[in-house]
Amino acid sequence: MRVSRLMLVTLRDDPAEAEITSHKLLLRAGYMRRLAPGIFAYLPLLWRVLQKVSAIVREEMAAVDALETLLPQLQPADLWRRSGRWDGYTAGEGIMFHLVDRQERSLGLGPTHEEVVTELASDLLRSYRQLPVCLYQIQTKFRDEIRPRFGLMRGREFIMKDAYSFHADEACLRRTYAAMDGAYRRIFERCGLRAVAVEADSGAIGGSASQEFMVTAEAGEDLILASPDGRYAANQERAVSLPAPPVPLEVSACQPLATPAQKSIEELCTAHGFDPTQTLKVLLLLARFAAAPPRGVLVCLRGDQQLNDVKLANAVTARCPDAGALLEIVPLLADHLCDPVPFGFLGPHLEDPALRQGEARVAAAPMLRLADPSAADLEAFVCGANRSDEHLVGARWGELCPRPEVVDLRAAQPGDRCLHDPSQRLEAARGIEVGHIFQLGRKYSEALEARFTNEAGGEEPLWMGCYGIGVSRLAQAAVEQHHDADGIRWPVAIAPYTVIVVIASSQDPVQVALAEELYERLRVGGCDVLLDDRPERAGVKFKDADLIGIPWRLVVGRAAGERKVELVDRSGDTGKRELAADAAVEQLLGLPGASP
Ligand code: ATP
Ligand code: MG
Repeated sequence: MRVSRLMLVTLRDDPAEAEITSHKLLLRAGYMRRLAPGIFAYLPLLWRVLQKVSAIVREEMAAVDALETLLPQLQPADLWRRSGRWDGYTAGEGIMFHLVDRQERSLGLGPTHEEVVTELASDLLRSYRQLPVCLYQIQTKFRDEIRPRFGLMRGREFIMKDAYSFHADEACLRRTYAAMDGAYRRIFERCGLRAVAVEADSGAIGGSASQEFMVTAEAGEDLILASPDGRYAANQERAVSLPAPPVPLEVSACQPLATPAQKSIEELCTAHGFDPTQTLKVLLLLARFAAAPPRGVLVCLRGDQQLNDVKLANAVTARCPDAGALLEIVPLLADHLCDPVPFGFLGPHLEDPALRQGEARVAAAPMLRLADPSAADLEAFVCGANRSDEHLVGARWGELCPRPEVVDLRAAQPGDRCLHDPSQRLEAARGIEVGHIFQLGRKYSEALEARFTNEAGGEEPLWMGCYGIGVSRLAQAAVEQHHDADGIRWPVAIAPYTVIVVIASSQDPVQVALAEELYERLRVGGCDVLLDDRPERAGVKFKDADLIGIPWRLVVGRAAGERKVELVDRSGDTGKRELAADAAVEQLLGLPGASP
């Protein structure tokens, strides 16, 4: 391809809309343009990158016997109602774009395809003899993200590879999950990415085990907590650890303590010399559901601990099976209540009637009362007295009130001791989630009645797994990991072109003739090659070549008369070398991916 025909428009300055390096570079180097928030045109250069990533994905999917397909993006609401996900995905913070057609039927634009593929499976897969089966597609997904940002990292329209597997039993599901794990590792490695596998929360997709693949990068939105010995790594949403041991509270009986205006743990501890580990943090929240009135939630944490919102949402969902989708959990505010509740002085013994007013009318449903083990394990503690300006010192579970239901709710932090080996401490790293694999179990097959006849002749729901890769996010993550001050440094396997032949002076017929010859030989030899034939100064062309990040630059300049050229390795590994034109061609045709 000739650069003069490439519609290449590069920008000298960083566009104001871009926040992180990879986003800036993709815009500056002419890979994409933004149409609206989270909606991008993939220009020809980027499309080639995406095609190369997709080709690697296709090869590795074929290697684990997954079949490529293409499923509808317009999906009937009824199907999503039957799986119980329509409300959660469309109301509140739901991310599904949805619409009503001319016949007044509701439809959603596919953010993911569990429903559609399970419906197909229930129609087509009837016998254990047909199993296992794995289908995948590479397709545009739509998600009305609350905060689209960082370019392709969090788009509202983006490309995903999603695969779904069906099995006669759980053991078979586990085998495919393990095979996918291997395929994912090979995909990321072949794309030139440093990615790590971490334990993950299963989120709105559901299911039991799930694992994410994170490209480690400072700009990542996810926090990874890992042990130095490499035996444990998890997304912070899911991570577990040992909290620091508490400082024992040496008191005999429970006493009230005047604490005027000391509403925070910090103020309380500063004023009275308590250690935060001796205190109880009581949070009052309101959970809103699609199909039930809101419900109050009282959470107890040890004073030095933070709440993990994802763990809380999972705990609440599990305890309200008939309430429909959990839409949101918000702090309960004075506005939600008629009578004042002494915020800042709350104790775990707060009674239900306190909430039976205003929007928080919990009516028949009592508050959900949950305590993290760090709070539940305290012998004696300091907590609010449920009266303004007063705390209790030396309160005990059982005496003050029954111990709430114990569930892991605390956010693990960097520096925490690891469960598998307390001498190891969790270290933090930032990551970009490029892939996510799930063992779904029978959640969707039960809901959508996708059943098969097993070997014994009985009917049972299919076992399922699902496996996603953010293809467009991956492409940008590669830039985040591979760039320098001058621009992108694509890994060869996913670079839009492998070689760029630059004519230093387009005025010089000798240079032009040699460049055209080399370009043609490389092209015929199967190399993805660009020819920068633009009538620009050499410096401009070199800058652009660096910016767009083509792995090899072949410069045809003054030595063209002696058939000598300069070969520059964009990765910087072998630097700049002058060599005979024929030798350069030979070397470039020998590169991986260069031959037809
Ligand atoms: P996130 O937590 O980042 O919102 P997710 O967990 O909702 O992502 P999945 O449902 O697991 O995403 O989707 C599979 C893959 O699709 C993700 O691992 C990610 O690489 C990619 N992906 C998800 N959302 C987006 C998005 N808005 N833009 C680009 N890629 C995305
Ligand atoms: Mg995910």
